[in-house]
Amino acid sequence: MRSFEHDTGRTRILFGQGTVERVGEELVRMGGRRALVLSTPGRAPLAEQIGFQIGRSAAGVFAGAVEHTPVEVTERAIARMRNLNADSIVSVGGGSTTGLGKALVFRSRVPHLVLPTTYAGSEVTPVLGETVDGEKVTRRATDLVPQAVIYDVELTRTLPWPITLTSAVNAMAHAVEALYGNDRNPESDRTAVEAIRVLASGLKELQSDFEKIDARADLLYGAWLGGTCLAKVGMGLHHKLCHTLGGSFGLPHAPTHAVLLPYAMEYNVTVAGNAMARTAAALGVPDAPSGMQSLIRSLGGPTSLAEVGFGVQQIREAAQLATERPYPNPRLVTLEGIIDLLGRATAGSPIEPAR
Ligand code: NAD
Repeated sequence: MRSFEHDTGRTRILFGQGTVERVGEELVRMGGRRALVLSTPGRAPLAEQIGFQIGRSAAGVFAGAVEHTPVEVTERAIARMRNLNADSIVSVGGGSTTGLGKALVFRSRVPHLVLPTTYAGSEVTPVLGETVDGEKVTRRATDLVPQAVIYDVELTRTLPWPITLTSAVNAMAHAVEALYGNDRNPESDRTAVEAIRVLASGLKELQSDFEKIDARADLLYGAWLGGTCLAKVGMGLHHKLCHTLGGSFGLPHAPTHAVLLPYAMEYNVTVAGNAMARTAAALGVPDAPSGMQSLIRSLGGPTSLAEVGFGVQQIREAAQLATERPYPNPRLVTLEGIIDLLGRATAGSPIEPAR
């Protein structure tokens, strides 16, 4: 089993099996004496268990985290934090819980420890996406990066296959876009290639044996690598579209990533040849966009935006929102181009290998 400790200067990373035991000790190291433990409603029993484990270091539990970090939920959590006199945060869960933790840090500047239970990667990024009045707004600040991340592969065993798959593709998307980001560098390129490789092989192994803990460890390792890519390199079209569809149309985050990633790759393929060649090599396929789509389909992932709750009548509005402000992307982002992309993704059109 892969196991390591790593200190980035900002964040202590503990990775392994049974590492959850070390929450109390890491909390003390960060100076936390009364932590508010956060989770989604579904992970509340785990949050209670962590609270029980750290005893007097737990101020209480707030199990109300939801996707896309709506400010109304953050306001309820901050009120609870103040009522309980909490001086630190322990986030137990996926990107939704970590997002809420970051939103609280943004407002209170307390130390933050994360126990990731999905592959979203938010725990190592300086990025916070919050939904305000139906629009997802992104902040980026170094002090949003948590002080400690405890990756315990045991916490991911309960993740059902559909979430496992889409969450791992979300992690892959960070790496794929990092390979064509403006500010990429040789180190981020190496990290991205390793992330894609280990996530694709971990998914295939887990599909053939759902109890295989080493495959889970590979996926969690890939999540860390993917998160590292997202932390270091600015993302492009794919992430922008996912933010628009999540924040303004309420689409589920990871399934939307799983549907859109091959189409965003197809959009960029003609001008990001090097990135696509590296992605294809890491996936072990001749062509990256069609290879990514085949992989996701063979694993039983969602194949169209219609399947995740998006309708053709919403295409124009979504394309307008996604193109109203310019952002870096290898290929020029045009309204007509995005209408076409969203049309293909809504229908789940097959992607032909590039010739
Ligand atoms: P999530 O955190 O919403 O979790 C999805 C579902 O899985 C929830 O119902 C949760 O209770 C359940 N779950 C989580 N772990 C489980 C486990 N081990 N076993 C069983 N069930 C489990 O989903 P997500 O995809 O991890 O996060 C999505 C959110 O994260 C979005 O809001 C997205 O914008 C954000 N995000 C942010 C960043 C960043 O860097 N800021 C990066 C990635 C994602």
